[in-house]
Amino acid sequence: MRIDVISISDIVSVSGVSYAYNAVEVLSDISFSMQQGDYVGLVGPNGSGKSTLIRLLLGLLAPSKGTLSIFGSPHRELRNWNRIGYLPQKIHFLNPHFPSTVAEIVSLGLVANSDRKSRASENRQAVDRTLELLGIEDLKKKLIGSLSGGQQQRVFIARALVSSPELLILDEPATALDPGTRENFFGLLHDLNHQQRVSIILVTHDLGSVGVFASKLLYLDKKIVFYGNFDEFCKSDHMASVFGPSSQHIICHKHD
Ligand code: ADP
Repeated sequence: MRIDVISISDIVSVSGVSYAYNAVEVLSDISFSMQQGDYVGLVGPNGSGKSTLIRLLLGLLAPSKGTLSIFGSPHRELRNWNRIGYLPQKIHFLNPHFPSTVAEIVSLGLVANSDRKSRASENRQAVDRTLELLGIEDLKKKLIGSLSGGQQQRVFIARALVSSPELLILDEPATALDPGTRENFFGLLHDLNHQQRVSIILVTHDLGSVGVFASKLLYLDKKIVFYGNFDEFCKSDHMASVFGPSSQHIICHKHD
């Protein structure tokens, strides 16, 4: 008989992972772990492997070397899929004639939930609850293509949240948002993280504000340059020598 032991185990555990596209290694010997409630800012220059790491975490790619487990079970296990919410950077397919309603788009976030197929009313309630959480219940029956960029972004955030994921992965989520919506969006993430202990990985280029939102920094440049709390990063003479004091200051300026 299998006994599930409740422990404060890692929700993400990456050990010695490398990845190569056509024999060109783009991630090398990556090891890190996350615990429930961690809010990790994933940063690094263009081409440093951030998206590849996200694809590995989502199970879209398999590592060339090393092991990866999510929620204590091996990489790519189907039952994990609805425990991860993913918000991609760009929503490519939208045009004003796209024929889906907001409710339909948000329901897509429940598709991985195969054991819920028969629970249509439960799914509808989850969609309604999530639209309400984001303050867009009035858009429910609108066609997605008829909405503004900021409204569409909220719909996709709703799709990422509708399955009540334990881990949210967000790829440059705020680029299309106006300042007010952006602030609300990060406020919502903060509440999910603090009140519901949803763990978050936020991919961003915004070095100047990553420390305002995230509690940990993962700086990637093919390898892990730094992983840890912001105060460790900010106090590290080694990081000052790697980044130069002014870049370190940009990352740290809200963490004095
Ligand atoms: P980032 O998200 O940090 O910009 P990526 O993970 O997209 O970095 O890319 C890391 C490296 O892998 C880059 O050199 C990029 O050109 C290369 N790369 C990304 N996707 C592919 C692909 N599908 N085929 C070949 N090379 C790729």
